[in-house]
Amino acid sequence: MSFLNIKTKLTLWYTFFMVVLVGGILGILVEFTDMTLLTNQKSQLVEVVEDVIEDIEEGDDFDNFDDGVYILLYNENGEYLTGSLPFNFPIEYPFKLGQVQEIKEKDRGFYIYDKKIITEGGEKIWIRGVFSDIQINQLTQTIVTGAFLILPILVILSTVIGYFITKKAFLPVKKIQETAQNITESNELSLRIGLPKGRDEITKLANTIDEMLERLDKSFQKEKQFTSDASHELRTPVTVILAESEYILKHGEDMEEVRESMEIINRQAEKISGLINQLLFFSRADRGDLKLKLENVNIVKTIEELKNDNSIEAEKRNITITCENNLKNYEYIVDKIMFIRAIQNIIQNAINYGKENGKIEIESFEKSEYFVIKVKDDGIGIAEENLQKIWDRFYQVDESRTTKSMGLGLSMVKLIVEKHEGYVEVESELGKGTVFTLYFKKL
Ligand code: ADP
Repeated sequence: MSFLNIKTKLTLWYTFFMVVLVGGILGILVEFTDMTLLTNQKSQLVEVVEDVIEDIEEGDDFDNFDDGVYILLYNENGEYLTGSLPFNFPIEYPFKLGQVQEIKEKDRGFYIYDKKIITEGGEKIWIRGVFSDIQINQLTQTIVTGAFLILPILVILSTVIGYFITKKAFLPVKKIQETAQNITESNELSLRIGLPKGRDEITKLANTIDEMLERLDKSFQKEKQFTSDASHELRTPVTVILAESEYILKHGEDMEEVRESMEIINRQAEKISGLINQLLFFSRADRGDLKLKLENVNIVKTIEELKNDNSIEAEKRNITITCENNLKNYEYIVDKIMFIRAIQNIIQNAINYGKENGKIEIESFEKSEYFVIKVKDDGIGIAEENLQKIWDRFYQVDESRTTKSMGLGLSMVKLIVEKHEGYVEVESELGKGTVFTLYFKKL
């Protein structure tokens, strides 16, 4: 059966059930009509015989055949006197007073009803009413014939209508199958089934598949973008290293010049090394291999140390860093290295994108199940439309800036905070400054 499609299978199944059902109903109908007709005809038989007796007693004439009932008269000894005879009727069949009898004779059946009366002249006669089952059979035959004519029409009609209903119901499935096939053949993940939102199961399935494709597509795009961005970021320092080393090899006689070139090479190599470390971090995180080494860490002291470590760098731009601690405790459970990496990145950005003679305020406090680190600067700020993009890997608002980092910092910060079951927030106004708030779960 697997060579048939679902539509045909379904149509065949309900056509089969339709035949069985309609056949069964018609069978019951014929049987029921048969029974009802027989019961009616039997009471008709008794009624006609009683009417004839009444007519005879009143001296009226009567019909030999009335309402399908034949009337026969016999004398006291059972000898046939007069009346009309149905074909093949056994004329001498024994009498039974006041009871409907059934006779089977040469493929034919008769129902008889006998009554005895005494005429005015004192003569005893038998009055026999007879009806032949051929009348009932004829009627039943008509119904059966009708049924056999209607049955195929009904079946054909229901099959055709059913097939079209099934076809319509399976239209979404066809679209799903076609889209899947097109994606396989063209390798184009941007294709969608595109059914309007619906509430039936198949449409819901199609909508869910579309959402899934959307996510897959985005994730593949991101993957592609990531590889291309990473190669791009690596290419620049490698080009510089190659150029510098080639220059030294050709013209590197002057020690001062060689030293300058070596410094450039060293800086670029450091940049490459930093990038590789960051890429390794993301690759481990994406593989799910990034495990936290949780321990009790004195957060207040760590932040103070970070402030001090960054002061020299900040002073170069005449930026002051202040710390305000409102934490209830000193120690919280975190992965120390990761925690430092996250806060360091935010402070580093605040210095990089802060304004000369500006200030950076670091505030720490508790909020429900989180301990929070807030870093506020009064630097260049970020435009509203870029605010969500800054968390993307390799995203830089101004790519021409020549900072050491490559747009990976904030995505790493977000990942670290989320690893601590927390979340990040950013508020900013262009030209006024930015506030980064990191919520770490109290573990
Ligand atoms: P990077 O600093 O290496 O460019 P990040 O991921 O740390 O990468 O930051 C992404 C971008 O967000 C930066 O390029 C910068 O444009 C913007 N940004 C980050 N921090 C600040 C800040 N404190 N003030 C203004 N812009 C910022």
